[in-house]
Amino acid sequence: MSKYWNDTTRKLSPYVPGEQPKDQRYIKLNTNENPYPPSPRVLQAIEDQIGETLRLYPDPESTELRERIAGRYELTQEEVFVGNGSDEVLALAFKTFFAQERPVLFADITYSFYKVYIQFHELQAAIIPLQQDFRLDVEAYCREANGGIVIANPNAPTGIEVPLSDIEKIVQHHPDTVVLIDEAYVDFGGQSAVSLIRQYPNVLVVQTLSKSRSLAGMRVGFALGHPELIEGLNRVKNSFNSYPLDRLAQVGAAMALEDETYFLETTKKIIQTRERFTEELKRLGFEVLPSKTNFVFARREGWSGADLQRRLKERGVLVRHFAQPRIEDYLRITIGTDEEMNVMLDKLQSILQMS
Ligand code: PMP
Repeated sequence: MSKYWNDTTRKLSPYVPGEQPKDQRYIKLNTNENPYPPSPRVLQAIEDQIGETLRLYPDPESTELRERIAGRYELTQEEVFVGNGSDEVLALAFKTFFAQERPVLFADITYSFYKVYIQFHELQAAIIPLQQDFRLDVEAYCREANGGIVIANPNAPTGIEVPLSDIEKIVQHHPDTVVLIDEAYVDFGGQSAVSLIRQYPNVLVVQTLSKSRSLAGMRVGFALGHPELIEGLNRVKNSFNSYPLDRLAQVGAAMALEDETYFLETTKKIIQTRERFTEELKRLGFEVLPSKTNFVFARREGWSGADLQRRLKERGVLVRHFAQPRIEDYLRITIGTDEEMNVMLDKLQSILQMS
């Protein structure tokens, strides 16, 4: 705390991301990164861009990238917004759409950044607890008057998918507020709400290239929605940072979207590894929630999540644990390569045998 900080800064409680150790000794299954490198075509596109053009500012509108995204989702450029990671897109969306006088609805167990944005933008939240089985309480969302709704689908850290028909029900119930669907993990088996955009002008879908496109280090996210929503986001973006995406990110991201074959291959491998790993975990006595993401959320009777996490770290494997009511016994385990998951299973087995 410094005397030079203003009141707003003093009151912030910033998001705490998963550990990024510097020594590289760990098998990193704690921040939902993709274990496979980006497409070789992405690396080539970036290399081609390095040189003379870095002297020049990038296209502030990211026109080519937006065109590529629009093409991929059968939308127009006016229905696409891009930002520096989906975290930035989410932050701008909270600022653009959510009303100060009414609460923003989201779940008790979901992406913890939403709470941080609420504080940052001086909004109010109404927390709607997930049901006993960690599924979304759709009726509760329909009942509550609100100034905006945020749903991570599939949810994080549970991995559980919300059926599209439930999303549509909520969207229909609240035609006057924006329903933001955070689809960071949708490519690993979820159903996207992109199909609702043309029918409902209050749907905003946010996705990222950090997970299924292996580009967490490049920071590219995007929002899809009615042109008026996108125009609103641009107003806010251009009042804050007109060049959120550098030249390398723009060409790299565009190429990642073009190389659909590589994308399908790597996401398929991750889904297969997830299914196999889930079965193996169950065999070790774990309860595993049904996941449509690149991670699983699991617990083992008789073990605290914190203890398991610590013992895994001692053995060179990092996983994520949340010291939060209802989920303190769970571990969130990112799906790595088959080899990494085999090491993880060996370590778990030896920990369980020691007790
Ligand atoms: N949404 C959810 C649900 C996430 O888990 C993450 C990753 N931490 C993000 C958004 C942000 O991803 P990025 O900023 O890398 O696009």
